[in-house]
Order: sequence, then C-alpha cells, then structure tokens
Amino acid sequence: MTASVTTNFKGKSYSQFRDNLAPYFMVPQICGYLRYILNSMSNLPVAPNHVVSISYTLSLADGEVADFAEADAPLVFIHGIGQTLDAFDARLEGLNVGDGFSFQLPAEEGYGMHTDEWIVELPKSVFGGDDVPADLLQLGAMLPMQDQDGNPMDGEVIEIGDDTVKMDFNHPLAGEALHFTGTILAVREATAEELDHGHVHGEGGHHH
Ligand SMILES: [Zn+2]
Repeated sequence: MTASVTTNFKGKSYSQFRDNLAPYFMVPQICGYLRYILNSMSNLPVAPNHVVSISYTLSLADGEVADFAEADAPLVFIHGIGQTLDAFDARLEGLNVGDGFSFQLPAEEGYGMHTDEWIVELPKSVFGGDDVPADLLQLGAMLPMQDQDGNPMDGEVIEIGDDTVKMDFNHPLAGEALHFTGTILAVREATAEELDHGHVHGEGGHHH
C-alpha cells in the first residue's frame, strides 16, 4: 500500500476505508469472546481436586505488590490439595469462570505470625566450616537449607558472628495481611495422574 492509497482509497477517504475494514479488525475480539463463552460453558465452579487458572495480584497492607500473575501467564494450581494457602482455596471455592475476587487474609490465615522460634543460631560448620565461600554468608542472603527430616526451607542470614550464623526461617510474608484481587480464568477437573503427582500437567504446569 502506498501513501496515496492510504489517504485516498478508490475515491474514499481514509476514514471510510478504515471503517470498511473494521469488521476484520474485530475478528480477534470475537475469537476471544467465543473462547470465553466456551470456558463458561464448562460451567464447573471452583472446587477441590479441580485445576484452576487465575490471574491475580497479591498486595500487602502498605500497597506493595508482593506477587502477581497476568492472564497470559496465569497461576494454574490444583484446588484443595495444599498447593496454595488453605484460606485462599476456601475463598475461591464456588466461584465460576469470569468471576472476579477481592479479599484480605489476616496473617494468621496467610503465612503465620513472625516468631522467634524460627530464628536459629547455627554453627558456621553447617555451611562447610572454614571452606565457607565468602560470598555465601552475607547479611540478607536467602539460603536454601534442609531441616533434620530433609524438608527444604529457605532461611535469611540476619547476623554473622565469629563462629555462628543467625538465620531467620520465618516466611518472608510472615506477619503480613495478604490482599488478593484477581479473576477466575478456567476450571477443569484434575486428571487422576495430576492428583497422584500433586501438580498440574500441561499448560501452566509440569511437562513430563
Ligand atoms: Zn507430574
């Protein structure tokens, strides 16, 4: 298309030309609408053992956005099996595709209260004794650790002594009220294999 065509297309002004094209431009919107209707027609409300896709924003009391997922890369999880907070699952239960949500969880229903029980002083030998890499032990560093049962847990280095290191194993969001807003994008039944593995397969989940 040359410049002259865009200003004068077969005797019509450009705006008339553009108006004639408008129905074609609308096709992607129509497809999006049809897809939305199809999702709605599945008609499954959010319920345990269902795979739920959501967009969401998690903000804290001071307005800071702690986490989010947008519609083109949603959070996809199996409802009711502990993949997300129990209180979070409970608030979403019964919602339908297209429904929005907005609620606040007190810290007790979120990641718990900050407690000194989760602050521990460890001998430096835990980190490999004299061979501790200097850049590993730094104030504020989050280190992947294991408890005595082999469960992984991240801890933050909060104090470095001559022989010991003080670490905080409280969840980074402990003590925070959690404000969630978002939209239910899709709901389907989890497959037997997904329930067996405890995670979602395919889009938004594991590929194996
Ligand atoms: Zn799997």
